[in-house]
Amino acid sequence: MNNIPHESSKPHHVAVAVVGGGPAGLMAAQVLSSLGHSVHLFDAMPSVGRKFLLAGRGGLNLTHSEAFEHFVHRYGEQESQLKPILSDWGADQLRSWAQELGVDTFVGTSGRVFPMEMKAAPLLRAWLSRLRHPLSGKPVEFHTRHRLIGIKACSGAESDHSQVQLTFEVRDLSSKQVEVRQWSAKSVVLALGGGSWSRLGSDGAWVPWLQAAGISVNPLLPSNCGFHVAGREGIGWTPFFISRFAGKPLKSVAMAWSAPSGQIARRQGEFVASSYGLEGSLIYAASADLRKAIQAHGSAELKLDLLPDWTLDRVVQAVSHPRGSRSLSSHLKGRLGIDGIKMALLNELLSPAVLQNSAELAKAIKGLSIKLTATRPMDEAISTAGGVAWGGLDAGLQTKVMPGVYVAGEMLDWEAPTGGYLLTACMATGYKAALSVHAEMKGDEP
Ligand SMILES: Cc1cc2nc3c(=O)[nH]c(=O)nc-3n(C[C@H](O)[C@H](O)[C@H](O)COP(=O)(O)OP(=O)(O)OC[C@H]3O[C@@H](n4cnc5c(N)ncnc54)[C@H](O)[C@@H]3O)c2cc1C
Repeated sequence: MNNIPHESSKPHHVAVAVVGGGPAGLMAAQVLSSLGHSVHLFDAMPSVGRKFLLAGRGGLNLTHSEAFEHFVHRYGEQESQLKPILSDWGADQLRSWAQELGVDTFVGTSGRVFPMEMKAAPLLRAWLSRLRHPLSGKPVEFHTRHRLIGIKACSGAESDHSQVQLTFEVRDLSSKQVEVRQWSAKSVVLALGGGSWSRLGSDGAWVPWLQAAGISVNPLLPSNCGFHVAGREGIGWTPFFISRFAGKPLKSVAMAWSAPSGQIARRQGEFVASSYGLEGSLIYAASADLRKAIQAHGSAELKLDLLPDWTLDRVVQAVSHPRGSRSLSSHLKGRLGIDGIKMALLNELLSPAVLQNSAELAKAIKGLSIKLTATRPMDEAISTAGGVAWGGLDAGLQTKVMPGVYVAGEMLDWEAPTGGYLLTACMATGYKAALSVHAEMKGDEP
């Protein structure tokens, strides 16, 4: 009968299974196959690397060129966990890896590193071709449309060797039949991604069944996400603002916000006004702190500097300059160059009394308070925080409760801003997990 899962009788045994064909899983598979292991890679989707391809749509930011001590600092609370992993395989290795696949990279003006063509597709094509036809080692065998729905460690009485049993739901496209298939592997790398953009495969559905298997998982949360604003009335932007400015960028601004430590963080850059609030790279840079503030206090505040290159004194002088019969808008445009969305934001958020008070207005131009009330839904986020807790893993990313099971990529509990830090840590943890599997399997025939 269609759509009713039925159990296939014959279990399959393999040496190494990698589950999840994103950058973390593909890297783990590449390292292990190049070391001579027979690697079987499973993915729930009809093809692998879908989020990686999406990441390339706006320019694939592979990594960042800043000095290592700054680079690792971007991982915030998880810096100490990721530092040893990234010092073995980090930004430089990532660039060499791309070059080795025939894709040259360049450093953009912001220090971010991109492939010459900016796109992900040529890199993914070259990567998959290398996995299928390696220069040395064994080709990787791909099993798409295999959704992992359960994992169990078997040892002693249940099996000859200690094995990990994997249960997959396999969808046959032509018959629409769903079959349940068992595989077992000596070592398994789980690289199932976070919990955003579920239509591309990473749906976070693994959280409850990994927890049921005894693996500690912290709740997944949106990271590098948009935020809802309160607006002046507490109900978001006005319909006028939305109709004129949703989708418009705010360029050359600076933002200050409170980090959980109480320190004031400040960043310059740009972001975008959306119908619900704010999104874009500058907002993403602060998203972890802003999300934590909302969790703790119900809202978060950021201060927007509309003229970061001007001192407050200079702004006060310019605003206070007699304006005669000119409207406030043409005065600010003429004297300070403030117009468009910057002017609209002042009108949107300040009371008429403040707009008419030169000193107050100047202060607001240098620190416009914007109240954020909520994150956008996790499924829209660029990445997710939370995931498999570090305390449940050994230094080789092997789970303590289920020996033979390793975890890599975004499903680990870390977060970082955009800037190439996400892909670098995903691939670095895939690399690390693969080397740990290899070390464990030494002595076994690859
Ligand atoms: C719009 C957008 C733009 C981005 N741009 C960048 C960028 O420029 N630079 C950057 O560094 N990062 C970027 N990222 C983030 C980056 O793409 C992710 O952090 C990265 O892809 C995560 O890699 P991963 O291998 O851990 O997981 P994923 O890439 O999410 O892959 C996980 C894989 O596991 C599979 N899977 C999940 N559950 C199961 C299951 N139960 N059974 C079998 N298979 C399963 C999925 O189908 C998927 O193929 C972007 C993300 C988005 C959404």
